[in-house]
Amino acid sequence: MERPPLIILEKRESSLGTYIGHIKETPIERIDKEKEKRPVTLEQIKIMIAQDESERMFVGSNSGLFEMGGGEKESGFIKFEDIQHFIDENEKSPVVAHTHPIAVFDNAGYTPEELNKMRTERNFLAPMPPSITDIMGSVSTVEHFKDQDVEIRNKVYDPTGMWEYTLQQDNSAIELFKKFQHDLSERTEASLTDTDKQIMEEHGINKAHPAKRVSILKANPSTRVIGEKLEQTANQFIDELTEDTKEALSKFGKLEYFCLDIAGAKRAGHDQEQTKKLIRNYIETAASIGIQVSYTPY
Ligand SMILES: [Zn+2]
Repeated sequence: MERPPLIILEKRESSLGTYIGHIKETPIERIDKEKEKRPVTLEQIKIMIAQDESERMFVGSNSGLFEMGGGEKESGFIKFEDIQHFIDENEKSPVVAHTHPIAVFDNAGYTPEELNKMRTERNFLAPMPPSITDIMGSVSTVEHFKDQDVEIRNKVYDPTGMWEYTLQQDNSAIELFKKFQHDLSERTEASLTDTDKQIMEEHGINKAHPAKRVSILKANPSTRVIGEKLEQTANQFIDELTEDTKEALSKFGKLEYFCLDIAGAKRAGHDQEQTKKLIRNYIETAASIGIQVSYTPY
């Protein structure tokens, strides 16, 4: 039987450290240094999406977004203090946003040549919705600010449009998913011996994205046994879940699959209708687990 799609096998967004590049001399540099305190315009965000090597981060309100870093070979990250700053200025609906630049579409299987084609041919662009990682990040943000009467709005700017999403507070599916991730990582961690951990450390496995560790371990003959053990442990853990739990969790896996399908639309040769249908499926699945999503093409 095929394993239910509960585990996110690949991280679609920037694989940290794999984009070895220099910081380009582009209009973006000037945005960073001279316009730091001014909100960015949508036109500037679009330039970032075309040129950046990783996601760019923003915090602000509906009247303007301010840049918080990212865009270079490593993603930036948003500090809670940055959001707090806006709340302190009486913003009731702070916006937390980031880009999905063309460079990260390699995670949906595009070759460097295809990425360049995206940069030059408008009709080769594809959308990329918020990932499960994005959503889980928003879950912790909502938790962090839960005592301060605010509604956090999340936005993702991709090459074709803007995604906006809010999380339903105390949603049981989200609680279940958090517990699943926590218990799974505890269980797999407990299956490793000190020697296993040492070997993983020597091979730099800990620096890889958690979702990619098993495949990296299995690809190397000297670490294959550890990879197989982790995989078996994860499979056994999943087998022991109740059918109801599996059913609820599989929606998160489904959401991630829709993400990949949508981002890979141009590789798969989907036409606009097919892509729209995938987007509708994504939005419906998200709604069924307490995430309200909308997508506005540019
Ligand atoms: Zn993202």
